[in-house]
Amino acid sequence: MLGSTGSVGTQVLDVVERLGKRVRVRSLSGAGNIELLTEQTVRWQPRAVVTRDAEGAQILKARNREFPNTQILVGEEGLCEAASDPETDTLVVAVQGFAGLRPTLAAAALGKNIAIASKEVLVVAGSLVRKAVQKGNARLIPIDSEHSAIFQCLIGEPEGSIEALILTASGGPFAQLTTEEMANITPAMALDHPTWKMGRKITVDSATLMNKGLEILEAEALFGVKASQVKVVVHPKSIVHSLVRLVDGSVKAQLGLPDMRLPIQYALLFPERMNTDLPRLDLLVSGPLEFFPPDAERFPALRLAREAADEGGVMPAVMSAADDVAVEAFLKEEIGFLDIVRVVEKTMTHFDNIRNPDLDCIVETDKRARAQATHIVEEGRRLFTPVMAR
Ligand code: MG
Repeated sequence: MLGSTGSVGTQVLDVVERLGKRVRVRSLSGAGNIELLTEQTVRWQPRAVVTRDAEGAQILKARNREFPNTQILVGEEGLCEAASDPETDTLVVAVQGFAGLRPTLAAAALGKNIAIASKEVLVVAGSLVRKAVQKGNARLIPIDSEHSAIFQCLIGEPEGSIEALILTASGGPFAQLTTEEMANITPAMALDHPTWKMGRKITVDSATLMNKGLEILEAEALFGVKASQVKVVVHPKSIVHSLVRLVDGSVKAQLGLPDMRLPIQYALLFPERMNTDLPRLDLLVSGPLEFFPPDAERFPALRLAREAADEGGVMPAVMSAADDVAVEAFLKEEIGFLDIVRVVEKTMTHFDNIRNPDLDCIVETDKRARAQATHIVEEGRRLFTPVMAR
């Protein structure tokens, strides 16, 4: 379990708790919240726990008596070791950013089930991951609700059946605002998502629709389709989690109440279904299900993502890294809401693409893109909107 202290990670452990003895936790890892990681280690008694650095390991070591059979590992090497544990059937990848990339490749080479929530891993290194999964005879099972829906719709459909994948987007909290009003959105406003309970980065990404842009690239990597085959419709209630249109024109959808614990349980137990006491969807209560086209003018992130997908190479990695920096700057109130996507676009225009990048090239690109985006944020205090000039 990579990333057990994050928003998805804690929900994964909630699901594991509900499943009783059906699932055993072999390893845990967390980067920031060492207190919670320690608590989780005491509760789950895993074989291994991985911290980001030696400092975290020191804190854990001080309480080692409470988990005497747990090995304390550190950093990326520790993550790869945990991911390669021969007794682990399923690796859950729920770390922020693409810190989960190397461990994902390690698990893929060993033919494991990979329950993946970290879309950045698939966005920046989709073709590397696909190749490793094929070669190692591993299986990728998405935790992202939209992709879980598509995955479920495709069960039993032979290869070559897909005409289009249709991702639903809640539209975020600002679907109704004008561009002028959007310029004054504060972090507190952006962090208040109408339907889903998620981490800070992804919640802001949902408000800019960058999350949906990343999900187009995620769908490419998971299902081997072209970005042009991945459509987006706004569906404010988040009941229809996504749809698949097949080559004969038939459309399949997966529906449910918006609760991450459903796709999490499905990914952990695949292909098994198990009873839960989660609330049931009642279509007579949920009210009308509405769908709208996304507004490309107010939400340029979708266009950028399609451009990155068409370019391929390192461009998706550049976009993802720049967005990470820009969202962080927005949360620190260094730039305005509309500047997030401007920083991303400006960073992308600064990069010459590199085709068929290997892992080192992607890691290097990520660093350079972050530095470039940081520079643009700093410069932008002069160039961008009044919010930045404060
Ligand atoms: Mg999603």
